[in-house]
Amino acid sequence: MFIYLDNNATTPVASGVAAAMAPFHTEFFGNPASLHRFGQELRPVIARAREAVAALLSAEPAEITFTSGATEAINTALFGLATAHPGKRHLVATGVEHDATLKTCEALGRRGFDVTILPVDETGGLDLRQFEQALRPDTLAASVMWANNETGVIFPIAELAAIARSRGVLFHCDAVQAAGKIPFEGVRSGVDLMSVSSHKFHGPKGMGALYVRRGVRIAPLIHGGGQEEGMRSGTSNVPGIAGMGKAAELALEFVRSGGPDRMAALRDRLERGLLDRVEDARVNGAGQPRIPNTTNLAFRHASGEAMLQLLDEEGIAAATSSACQSNDPEPSHVLKAMDVPVTWVRGSLRLSLSRYTSNEEVDAVLAALPDIVAKSRRASTFSGDPLAGEFERFQRQGR
Ligand code: PLP
Repeated sequence: MFIYLDNNATTPVASGVAAAMAPFHTEFFGNPASLHRFGQELRPVIARAREAVAALLSAEPAEITFTSGATEAINTALFGLATAHPGKRHLVATGVEHDATLKTCEALGRRGFDVTILPVDETGGLDLRQFEQALRPDTLAASVMWANNETGVIFPIAELAAIARSRGVLFHCDAVQAAGKIPFEGVRSGVDLMSVSSHKFHGPKGMGALYVRRGVRIAPLIHGGGQEEGMRSGTSNVPGIAGMGKAAELALEFVRSGGPDRMAALRDRLERGLLDRVEDARVNGAGQPRIPNTTNLAFRHASGEAMLQLLDEEGIAAATSSACQSNDPEPSHVLKAMDVPVTWVRGSLRLSLSRYTSNEEVDAVLAALPDIVAKSRRASTFSGDPLAGEFERFQRQGR
């Protein structure tokens, strides 16, 4: 049995999604911008997909722009606002955002923007008063993720968006890890812009969407043939759009049929079981509301990399930090921002379930992981004190 518990990195494409995409590679291959029938027959396909994505986000179809993923959506949101509102030159984000946001803020910083990066506490929580105090008369926008990809911690988006609105600040939300895992009703109304990614909810890779509330002024990032109402030029990725639409439909069904509660019960059983079976273990982000599929466990004095390798040998896929950073030897910027002590950071492991994760798979991980933690701890002790070097490196970084 191969067990995939790295669903915050990417998810398998649902079989219904793959089937929905297939005809658009071969049979219906036209360019939807063409005036002949090969193009025209694709228009309703794109419209239906837009409706499905809008329904998942509790938005209107006209508020949805298809993109090549969340990274592009986030870049479009922040650069697009910056271009359309040249009078305001300050942005606010949190220190635990995905690099898609942090690096975009850095790029805007190089173009003269002042960026305030807010800290989180040791549970990964955000102080609402600190958020409010960071907003200034020249603040253009705040960008805050709904759920963290590493810990699963959920930020109070409705409250944050309301504070931003009361101060005349636009609010962008990176909703990548929330889409298809928690309901969006009631929250979307206060958010001005929102980015999502299809491959995190069993859709194809290289597809995403940007929600822009009707009336919000924004400039496009990509210029050309004027597709997507001029918001995102480039020939439409019809198979990708059809696939993302189907994936959104299935994700909404999952959310509406009590799927998140079932998923949380399975995650809780896995988490509780591991805390019971392994000494010196804790949950990064415990005490905060979290999305139902994620647990980030820290095993003191263990090695995340060694555990990943041993798990892989058992056919179990997990992660130590976000996929984009997995070839980066530096400790996770999220756990660092939470001030997780070095002896715990190093032994942190993210297990992220999908709606297809089974009870049997959880049982298999509960059976395998305690021994793997023990082996990894023994290996750390054998090789002297590898933590010492790591600790010094951490100290040099001014932690
Ligand atoms: N934001 C978050 C929270 C993510 O987890 C990811 C992907 O890992 C992204 C943004 C980037 O999404 P994409 O892969 O669609 O560019």
